[in-house]
Amino acid sequence: MANVFELEHVTKVYRNDGNEFTALEDVSLQIEEGEIFGIIGMSGAGKSTLVRTLNRLEDVTEGTVRFYDDDLASLTKWELRQVRHSISMIFQSFNLLQQRTVIQNVEQPLRIAGVRNPERRQKALEMLEIVGLTEKQNVYPARLSGGQRQRVAIARALASDPKVLLCDEATSALDPKITGEILDLLKKINEERKLTIVIITHEMSVVEKICDRVAIIDNGNLAELGDVKEVFRNPKSQAAKKLVFPSNPFDPSKPDGKLIRLVFDGLEASEPFIANLVEQTGKKVNILSANTRSVGGIGYGQMVLELPEDREDQRIIINFFRNGGLTVSEVN
Ligand code: ADP
Repeated sequence: MANVFELEHVTKVYRNDGNEFTALEDVSLQIEEGEIFGIIGMSGAGKSTLVRTLNRLEDVTEGTVRFYDDDLASLTKWELRQVRHSISMIFQSFNLLQQRTVIQNVEQPLRIAGVRNPERRQKALEMLEIVGLTEKQNVYPARLSGGQRQRVAIARALASDPKVLLCDEATSALDPKITGEILDLLKKINEERKLTIVIITHEMSVVEKICDRVAIIDNGNLAELGDVKEVFRNPKSQAAKKLVFPSNPFDPSKPDGKLIRLVFDGLEASEPFIANLVEQTGKKVNILSANTRSVGGIGYGQMVLELPEDREDQRIIINFFRNGGLTVSEVN
């Protein structure tokens, strides 16, 4: 699989009025062709800076950013323009032209590239069909919902036949249901058009829903990088744990009670493992929280359980789950 982007030891220092701020420090990662790659971190972690280095909207202070085989820093203006033409972007704020209709917005990048009618209109219509907005082509953005505006932005982003789509907090302004619909659309586009997608978000639920791999950025550093399923199942860094673990509103009801978190995948989720526990060991647990979701088409879930106070009982229960292939970690 070819690498679309390759970052090697990228450091970015902002310098303003004699002040220096290191927004990225020694970040190395690769984004592979055809994948949906998530970049997640808290606000101010450096995600937007990282994304802006991918199309050289931001020059790096140290290190290299390669787009396919090209070192972005060594490109001529004309070459850089060609590269930027193959990298489309969508944003939280949609950035549509308010005085233009939906179809005129979608045509905009084609107009800039010098594509004439009727091809231009034809192509824009094709893009609107992909995002399911054909019937809104003559409407102005002000009359669209947030989700529809983002669909127009996606159609516009696709019109130039990019190799990559960068999504910077593209669903952050949308409610969960509409977010789900936009993510489904991005997944469909990724699969049908083999488009590489980079998703910047501060929400783990977005990463879980559609990303193949994820980079966790913490304070300008790459805290963790891996398959989403693996990171979710077994977060190693503090930053990853903070994003993955449910914030724990619980305390054990007894001083020596122990809370554990179980992570299971779709296959295991179909097993009545709590019932099996009781049946096979005679030990009982208290379910404090449970939620399941779909990650890349596979059901995923986690549960927080309270165990009995007795140490030996706790050991038996944890062993039972571990032997059943579940990932067990302590919450308290
Ligand atoms: P994120 O996208 O994760 O919220 P950003 O990449 O926007 O983070 O910002 C990372 C840090 O870099 C922040 O502390 C921000 O204030 C700082 N920063 C971003 N752009 C500039 C700039 N042009 N000059 C100085 N500091 C900046």
